[in-house]
Amino acid sequence: MTTEIESILVENRVFPPPADLVKQANVSGMEGYQALCDEAKRDPDAFWARLANENLVWTKPFTQVLDESRAPFYKWYPDGRMNVSANCLDKHLGTPAENRAAILFEADDGQVTKVTYKELHARVSQFANALKSLGYQAGERAIIYLPMSIEAVVAMQACARLGIIHSVVFGGFSSKSIHERTVDVGASLVITADAQMRGGKSIPLKDAVDEALAMGGCDAVRKVITYKRAGSDVQWHADRDLWWHDVIQGQSTDCPPVAVDADHPLFILYTSGSTGKPKGVQHSSAGFLLWSLMTMKWTFDAKPTDVFWCTADVGWVTGHSYVAYGPLAAGVTQVVFEGVPTYPDAGRFWKMIQEHKVTIFYTAPTAIRSLTKLSEADPKVHPKSFDLSTLRIIGSVGEPINPEAWVWYYNNVGGQRCPVIDTWWQTETGAHMITPLPGVTPLKPGSCTLPLPGIDAAIVDETGEEVERGKGGFLVIRRPWPSMIRTIWGDPERFKKTYFPEELKGYYLAGDGAQRDKDGYFWIMGRIDDVLNVSGHRLGTMEVESALVAHEMVAEAAVVGRPDDTTGEAVVAFVVLNGPLPQGDQAAAVAKQLRDWVAKEIGPIAKPREIRFGENLPKTRSGKIMRRLLRVVAKGEPITQDVSTLENPGILEQLAQVR
Ligand code: ATP
Ligand code: MG
Repeated sequence: MTTEIESILVENRVFPPPADLVKQANVSGMEGYQALCDEAKRDPDAFWARLANENLVWTKPFTQVLDESRAPFYKWYPDGRMNVSANCLDKHLGTPAENRAAILFEADDGQVTKVTYKELHARVSQFANALKSLGYQAGERAIIYLPMSIEAVVAMQACARLGIIHSVVFGGFSSKSIHERTVDVGASLVITADAQMRGGKSIPLKDAVDEALAMGGCDAVRKVITYKRAGSDVQWHADRDLWWHDVIQGQSTDCPPVAVDADHPLFILYTSGSTGKPKGVQHSSAGFLLWSLMTMKWTFDAKPTDVFWCTADVGWVTGHSYVAYGPLAAGVTQVVFEGVPTYPDAGRFWKMIQEHKVTIFYTAPTAIRSLTKLSEADPKVHPKSFDLSTLRIIGSVGEPINPEAWVWYYNNVGGQRCPVIDTWWQTETGAHMITPLPGVTPLKPGSCTLPLPGIDAAIVDETGEEVERGKGGFLVIRRPWPSMIRTIWGDPERFKKTYFPEELKGYYLAGDGAQRDKDGYFWIMGRIDDVLNVSGHRLGTMEVESALVAHEMVAEAAVVGRPDDTTGEAVVAFVVLNGPLPQGDQAAAVAKQLRDWVAKEIGPIAKPREIRFGENLPKTRSGKIMRRLLRVVAKGEPITQDVSTLENPGILEQLAQVR
């Protein structure tokens, strides 16, 4: 049996890097990139030692770079000691950065609060002192369940300052998710808010924490600290509950950072759960911070003058690497946004870019696809109605970005001037892995292009042998890198089995299918778990979906395989149209048109057997399509799987109907 994944999508457009970016970028031109790649290849230890020495402040310098003695439980910079918060804040004190805005916080209602690096350092220190006075110490675990806010960044940084390991739970998750994570990490502290403001509405948060803690098994939790955001009513447990504003009262704004081992866990973060039950991914201090910082400099070409805006919530890894840590370590000004992209209208993102003069913008394909649909329907909220001329780089993360969405983003948001930086990485990788560099890489829409220097990415078959160019297979990373996952919290066996299966020569298995084209560019084809198998042909989901999205009527699409007696699997496509949900004969006619379109665009083998329409697709709360649930819907079976991370459960019923 073959494990090859066939590629059927052809994309020939190429966009060279803008000349002015090539001239002034932190990594300049293909020669600059190649020199770094060569340096990393020649002597990986020397390369990673140089970066760590030049970019991090160490309390105790390391003498060893990588300890492989217990592989795959790698240790980086094992005898070095440092503090992450000191590397994000203290290092800017006494430099021109100290009076620079660290955070421009825009609340749901549009109110803006500015915090300089010096002020942020004081606020983090004060909150850290509060935690210290409550007896919290390095190594304890804290659950953070906060809205996007300055306080969320302060809470994470304060934990890092004391060596307390945080686990952020996304504010949209229920009490059940908080409970599971609180128990799993054995948390002794919970930091939350009374409520969060989203789209003009206040949504309770502390209630969910109270409910979670009442479910049992959370006896380790000594204190719950609540930040008053909305002023809404909350239940109070006098022995356990404290207000944020009370605990910081009278605390000094000076709190010496606690030096920890380089591999001391900085945080535990659960994956999105697109393919199964979320895994508690454990990250280190030094390695994680190093790569978050380097990728700010290389991938985003960050300079002190930049206004950086990553729209991800701190509940996701993107909000760790590119909100709470990377931008601060890089010393840029960043925008932090509390609200939603569609409130008060779908022009919110563009208006904010205009008002804060954002230069680097980083968001997800799901946001681009839904804002495309809304913008094209209403000129008032179209990016062209705003001044986005300050932008110089626009990025994408979370899912493959379909070529058509890429081109819309490039034309309408980037003004055909800004490179679209499609960054491939995962919760487990800590920071970017395969990505274009703005002053280096000619872009091809839909490709995440080339690995970063030091990242040994390859496409292999089931025995770990590299496959030929143009052939699809498993995406692996062959050498360890500093920001890699250290283990799954409390489950080292699952860590080994999931990421370092025995057959693969000790390579890190990402779980995505991909191919490299003749230029060595990587194209993510979809999750290995989602691969379609039609008449012996193995197809990635990405290419069929991109063909559908390329049709002018289609806003979003997801495809899955349904067991079939004659072809092994039949392709079932779930489609969201630009415009209203079609019914009856009209639905049948549109379905036929789209089936023929796919057959013509990429070949009859990929032609969907059936097309179903819905107003949306089942997505994780971070906006990723959950094909594992669509597979069940396509079979006509009831859902019995874990749906705790699903954003819109109601949509499954709509998609179950055949129109
Ligand atoms: P789980 O592992 O629990 O199923 P998840 O994989 O969705 O959840 P994340 O770590 O948030 O959790 O997502 C990483 C995955 O997102 C990657 O493995 C890949 O499938 C997808 N992804 C992220 N960025 C890109 C990108 N630029 N291009 C293509 N796919 C991407
Ligand atoms: Mg994953």
